[in-house]
Amino acid sequence: MNMETILVLNADYTPLNLTTFRRALKLIMKGKAEIVKNEEEEVIRSEKLAYPKPLIIRLLNYIKSKIKTFKVNRSRIYKRDNHECAYCGSKKQLTIDHIIPKSRGGKNTWNNLISSCLSCNLKKGDRTPDEAGMPLRFTAKVPNLLSSDLYTSKIWIEYKESF
Ligand SMILES: [Zn+2]
Repeated sequence: MNMETILVLNADYTPLNLTTFRRALKLIMKGKAEIVKNEEEEVIRSEKLAYPKPLIIRLLNYIKSKIKTFKVNRSRIYKRDNHECAYCGSKKQLTIDHIIPKSRGGKNTWNNLISSCLSCNLKKGDRTPDEAGMPLRFTAKVPNLLSSDLYTSKIWIEYKESF
């Protein structure tokens, strides 16, 4: 068990991040967090106390999570959009389309960039989806990502599967 892999849940049991054993212990000692799940065999001993090593802790006061978002780039847009054209669903010859065209003030943002196959991109041209009569099959959202480490961590996967 790696020291870095203690899962921190918000007061509403949504995951916040991973933390170190030291930080988790501090939160518990200060009465800011409670232990949700322990490491079964490992026991931490200090001079006066013996208690199980936490695996998952939960903050007692809800905190607004600072959701980390990734900077927008081409491959992240493709990934967010599941490598599908937002207009026809094709997975071939993907390009990045500006929903509101650049020439009309459209920005390079998560909300204005979307995956589009080359032929849809050419067909749409310098128009909005409305003007082109090409409705989006999904919306261009800012991906809701915590640290990707969290979502690939063993502890998070186990926690998620326990529901
Ligand atoms: Zn297309």
